[in-house]
Formats: sequence, C-alpha cells, structure tokens
Amino acid sequence: MKKIGVLALQGAFMEHITLLLSLGVEASPIRLPRELEGLDGLIIPGGESTTISRLMREYALSAPLRDLCNDGFPIMGTCAGMILLARKVAHINGIQPLEAMDIEVRRNAFGRQVDSFETELKIPVIGEPSFHSVFIRAPYIERAGEGVEVLARLYDGTGVAARQGNMLALAFHPELTDDPRLHSYFLSIVNGDAKR
Ligand code: GLN
Repeated sequence: MKKIGVLALQGAFMEHITLLLSLGVEASPIRLPRELEGLDGLIIPGGESTTISRLMREYALSAPLRDLCNDGFPIMGTCAGMILLARKVAHINGIQPLEAMDIEVRRNAFGRQVDSFETELKIPVIGEPSFHSVFIRAPYIERAGEGVEVLARLYDGTGVAARQGNMLALAFHPELTDDPRLHSYFLSIVNGDAKR
C-alpha cells in the first residue's frame, strides 16, 4: 500500500490525512526528518507559510525536503504549500521557499475584497465536472517557467494550479471539499500513471 506523508507543522493537515485514508492509502503526519523515510509521496498543506517555513527550519526539514524535490519525489503543495514549493515569492516576509518549482507566486494575492472565495475551476487533467475550489487568502502564480504545466486558470487567465515533473501546486484547498479527484490525480503521479 502506498504511504503518503502530510507535513504537520501547522495548518490544514488533518483534512488531507482524512481524505487520503478514504482513498485507501496509508497517510501519516510528518514532523521530523526521519519520518520522511519510506514515504511514496508528501503533501505540504495550507496554513500560514511564514510559520510553516520557520518550523521547517527549526525541525531541520528544509534540507531533506529540498533533496526530495531535487530527486523527483512526488510532492503536492496546497495554498501555503504552493508558496513553499515556489522558486520566488512576492510578499515573502521572511519565508525561505524550497525553490523546487519554477514558478513565481504572489502571497495573499487577491486583496481584501475577495480575500477568500469559492469558484468552479475547469481542470482538464481530472476531467468534468468543474472542481469546486476554496481559496483562502490564497496565492496565485505570476510566472511559470517552460517546464511547468499550468493545470488551471481563473476566468481572467490567472494560473492557480501547476505541475512540474512529480510536483503539483494548487493555490486552493482541495482537502476542504469532499471531491477527491485532485488527491487521486496526485496518487496517480505517485503510482507513475500520470506521466507528462
Ligand atoms: N495566506 C497564507 C500564506 O501566505 C496562505 C493561506 C492558506 O494556506 N490558506 O501563507
């Protein structure tokens, strides 16, 4: 059975674990470097990226996580998790991102009026129907490099989901709805079934 870790330093990690368990894989919270051993994939959840970044350093997780990213290990980052995977961050506020994906993201990008919102997103890699997406003080993708496939855009073209190799970055929170298709898509990357 595949074993997926969910970084559990802060934020919405329990919801990811519950969703993964419902899909029939093993899922465990990760707080220490040694807990990364034996995993088939990792999720970096949403939360507060400044806090998660600080705790990553305190728990000595930054270097092993960077190594995993460089080795092509399957990693999915949602919201704050997307920020932490990015090469460059606007409104960085002390965050040290893993610089794993060739994307530049803007934190808290939607401004006060639409700070948080929900919308239906067309995401061709998971097919129809559209995915009900919950954005909470979300980032968006300002620039994506050549090796990056933007998987979903808002109506105005703003990139909010991307894949690069075995890494997946989502600006929203797929764990807060009961639609498991993006977690299933991530598991297909873990299984090597969703080649690009
Ligand atoms: N605004 C948060 C940050 O910058 C992200 C919010 C979230 O993960 N829902 O880290």
